[in-house]
Amino acid sequence: MTNLRVLVVGAGFAGAVIARECAEAGHAVHVIDRRPHIGGNAHDTVNSHGERIHIYGPHLLHGERDSVAIRWLSRFTDWVPYEHRVRALLADGRTTPLPVNRTTLEDVFGVALESEEEAKALLASQATPLQPTNTDEVFLSNVGPRLADLFFRPYTRKMWGVCPTELEAAVGARLPVRSNRDDRYFTDSFQAMPKDGFTALFARIFDHPAIEVTLGEAYGEEHDRHYDHVFLSLPIDEYFRFRHGRLPYRSIRFESDQMPVDQAATVINYTDTGVYTRCTQWDLIPNSGRRTDGQHTITREIPCDASENNNECYYPVRNRQSLALYDRYRTLAAAEPNKTFIGRCGLFRYIDMVPCVTIHLQLAARFLAGEPLPRAA
Ligand SMILES: Cc1cc2nc3c(=O)[nH]c(=O)nc-3n(C[C@H](O)[C@H](O)[C@H](O)COP(=O)(O)OP(=O)(O)OC[C@H]3O[C@@H](n4cnc5c(N)ncnc54)[C@H](O)[C@@H]3O)c2cc1C
Repeated sequence: MTNLRVLVVGAGFAGAVIARECAEAGHAVHVIDRRPHIGGNAHDTVNSHGERIHIYGPHLLHGERDSVAIRWLSRFTDWVPYEHRVRALLADGRTTPLPVNRTTLEDVFGVALESEEEAKALLASQATPLQPTNTDEVFLSNVGPRLADLFFRPYTRKMWGVCPTELEAAVGARLPVRSNRDDRYFTDSFQAMPKDGFTALFARIFDHPAIEVTLGEAYGEEHDRHYDHVFLSLPIDEYFRFRHGRLPYRSIRFESDQMPVDQAATVINYTDTGVYTRCTQWDLIPNSGRRTDGQHTITREIPCDASENNNECYYPVRNRQSLALYDRYRTLAAAEPNKTFIGRCGLFRYIDMVPCVTIHLQLAARFLAGEPLPRAA
């Protein structure tokens, strides 16, 4: 393949992987992002107190130690080991581990469970035997109504803005329930934070003589004629000017505050029916500094529809209607020459950071091998 001029729209993980791989293969890459910073939603910054804040919500990196994606990322950063823990705030002010594990069951039911078998028996006594067809039924079949009402139903309603009965079963199936005492949020073999933060990691990925990055520049059709191929991590419906209607996304508004004491875990989930879902204490993530005035910056999250938050599209709401709508946009995308939709909003799919790297390394390899690419996966 001769040297190409490649435009990458979006300086998040999807765009960064494509940009670096194309540059290393000898192509000239221009990355644009309409935001004033690199890193997409993983962007972080150090505040005036020395605390590292992730401005679009906490991003915890986890994957398999020997995976291609972790090896690739490790070229651009050293790591600080970090196993993330989350606790749920109960009505009486106590906190208990999430995901639900043996300790959580003891806290809620006020019993001592001597073994995994006892924990499993307790869970089985609570669960409703049924074949789940929606998220609410997943909760019922996994943990039964009492734990569903405590940990899952109100949180899910706040998070997704609909009753769990209206969500496909796959959403609820992502929430594990354990009978052991493992209180880590993730169980992957590699859990760490980039030593100097995500923004420094992105700066090193983009630090290549064949990559030019322009920030504060939105994509427009006028860009097309300057490039041989365009990778787009913008929302696919936005690209087609919402011709068939808007794809639904949930978003989050953030409220920061300070606290004089440490909270019980980096993230506290609120189980009540109020507006907040969770609260992050930033200096408990080990690549953050701590303040010298004894205070700790915290950020609470209020989920909302993207339309209520300047169309900041965070979580694709995938259901039968939205997937049918996405299919119509994919059909339109198939007719666009030399363009490939990438990333969370191009593919209309929530993707964690490590899988995002994996998917886009594979996509880059196909592009560089001259293989035909899907316009949108
Ligand atoms: C609240 C939240 C928390 C998360 N927590 C975790 C976590 O703990 N662990 C984990 O592994 N993953 C987490 N993720 C997922 C992670 O953010 C994604 O894997 C990552 O964002 C995917 O990168 P991306 O490049 O697809 O999208 P993004 O990071 O969103 O990047 C897309 C970029 O494209 C730019 N763009 C869009 N339209 C245009 C346009 N028209 N012109 C120019 N630029 C444009 C945007 O400004 C943006 O910077 C979280 C996601 C969210 C929303």
